[in-house]
Amino acid sequence: MAIQLQQALTVGKYLLTQRLLGKKKFPLVLMLEPLFRCNLACSGCGKIQHPTEILQKHLTPEECFAAVEESGAPVVSIPGGEPLLHPQIGEIVRGLVARKKFVYLCTNGLLLEKSLAKFEPSPYLTFSVHLDGLGEEHDRLVDRSGVFEKAIAAIKAAKAQGFRVTTNTTVFEGADPKQMQEFFDFLEDLGVDGMMISPGYSYELAPDQDSFLSLEQTKALFREILAPWKSGQKKWNFNHNPLFLEFLMGDVDFECTPWGSPSYSVLGWQKPCYLLNEGHYKTYQELINNTDWDNYGRASGNPKCADCMVHCGYEPTAATAAMQPENMGKAMGALFS
Ligand code: SF4
Ligand code: SF4
Repeated sequence: MAIQLQQALTVGKYLLTQRLLGKKKFPLVLMLEPLFRCNLACSGCGKIQHPTEILQKHLTPEECFAAVEESGAPVVSIPGGEPLLHPQIGEIVRGLVARKKFVYLCTNGLLLEKSLAKFEPSPYLTFSVHLDGLGEEHDRLVDRSGVFEKAIAAIKAAKAQGFRVTTNTTVFEGADPKQMQEFFDFLEDLGVDGMMISPGYSYELAPDQDSFLSLEQTKALFREILAPWKSGQKKWNFNHNPLFLEFLMGDVDFECTPWGSPSYSVLGWQKPCYLLNEGHYKTYQELINNTDWDNYGRASGNPKCADCMVHCGYEPTAATAAMQPENMGKAMGALFS
């Protein structure tokens, strides 16, 4: 099952409520960044370049809970940095699960196995392990050998203890479609609870600027990679709304909804989205009210948005589109496939 039924029902009810309330801008996934520090230094990363005094900071559990309650988003993704470096990550996750939020704790896997004792299995908690390819390919992309092996051992240990585990994969320029397909087959055999994929975003601060895809390159590459899934030959278990995958292949066109995945960190509420850093607000309401949203998304002509097809901007659009009567069959079909 792609997205678990309980989460799909909660999110569907939430979307319906927002519609009945007449709300135009509302969050679906809160990107909660409790620290920017990491134990890796991937060349495509746009998060670890902050100055040392920022990298040393942590959000407190209380700050995390206040942000989650202020936004009201039903799903909380905890990227980073590496969240498992946070000394109170167990307390943060317990507090979010107690609030019945669907938590995706993103990790590069290096500390996962020895951190499992800090958590309890729950349908509300998923470890989302960063894996960009098989074996040496992943190690090359994260600039350190042995990372793939350690992440796979951690996934097996987490699954054996009853945790939900998904993977998140960034696809960069030059990715080999055949190798990506073998990688998805490998993850299926491993028994992960779902896979997430997204093209990389060309963060201005990322050291490796040559590995990012243009819009047309993204569509062509995803068309090739996902062809066996589209034809039904492969039943890969993606943790995505199928409309988002159709968007990546260029079969449907969406506009970005940057407010759908707002980002809260030690710096505050980031304007306008998880990817662009154009300043911060103290409150979520200020972010919604004071941001000139017409300046963002591809239709705006903003060059920073021109090649972006990243899930934090477009998955909320796909989720909203799935509520349209003509798309509901597809979304339900994916749930029960
Ligand atoms: S593991 Fe994630 S946060 Fe850490 S350097 Fe790599 S991309 Fe950045
Ligand atoms: S298109 Fe991408 S970069 Fe631009 S606002 Fe949306 S998510 Fe952010």
